[in-house]
Amino acid sequence: MSLPSELRSKAFLTGKITGAESVSMPHEDMTRLELRIRRAVLRRLLRGQPVDLDSLSTSTRLSPEEVAPVLSKLSDLGALHAMDGVIIAAYPLSAVPTRHRIRRDGTIIYANCALDALAVPFMVEEIVSIESDCTHCGQATTVEMSGDRILAAHPRSLVVFHVARDSCEAGPAVLTRCPHINFFCGTDHAGRWLAENPGRSGDVLALPQAVAQACERFASTISLVRGEEGQR
Ligand SMILES: [Zn+2]
Repeated sequence: MSLPSELRSKAFLTGKITGAESVSMPHEDMTRLELRIRRAVLRRLLRGQPVDLDSLSTSTRLSPEEVAPVLSKLSDLGALHAMDGVIIAAYPLSAVPTRHRIRRDGTIIYANCALDALAVPFMVEEIVSIESDCTHCGQATTVEMSGDRILAAHPRSLVVFHVARDSCEAGPAVLTRCPHINFFCGTDHAGRWLAENPGRSGDVLALPQAVAQACERFASTISLVRGEEGQR
């Protein structure tokens, strides 16, 4: 993945590619400072705002010197993924455009995979529209949600393929697993894609199942973004 030069110029990490495989780490493993900065990253991405060091410094009222090492730590923990010193992903959100677009409040934001996209409605108050496409045939897919409620899905037969971890290479989820967690227009096309990609295994999830998995996987992240994690 190459980065636009304006993003490179805002690089703040150490230049190495970092990021563990895990997506949903328990908050007990994070310090209050790490949680505060992670929340700032996620809230900015939810508003479609940049997450460069200066912006995060302003949001958190911390100095860039205080923010930078925490971002490195969060990358090591797998809470976000940085490349060449730039935040690429803060699970479930992507800082760069992906095929999974989420419209909220006049803003388009991006998720790393289909399951990540389905966690976003839990983080915001308003109705969101998740737009993607069938990985087999390219047909547009749309899911409209309000919190945990699915308001509409197009096509109605839409499913999510969730790849098994052990059928993917080792490495950061955004690079190794997310590319294979996608929407399909129906079980038929998910099955055909699987037949054409025999190295991959996993589950084909009906939309309500996928929503439930997204909610469960990102429960602590949803609480963090919404400010419901108590006094930590
Ligand atoms: Zn299709």
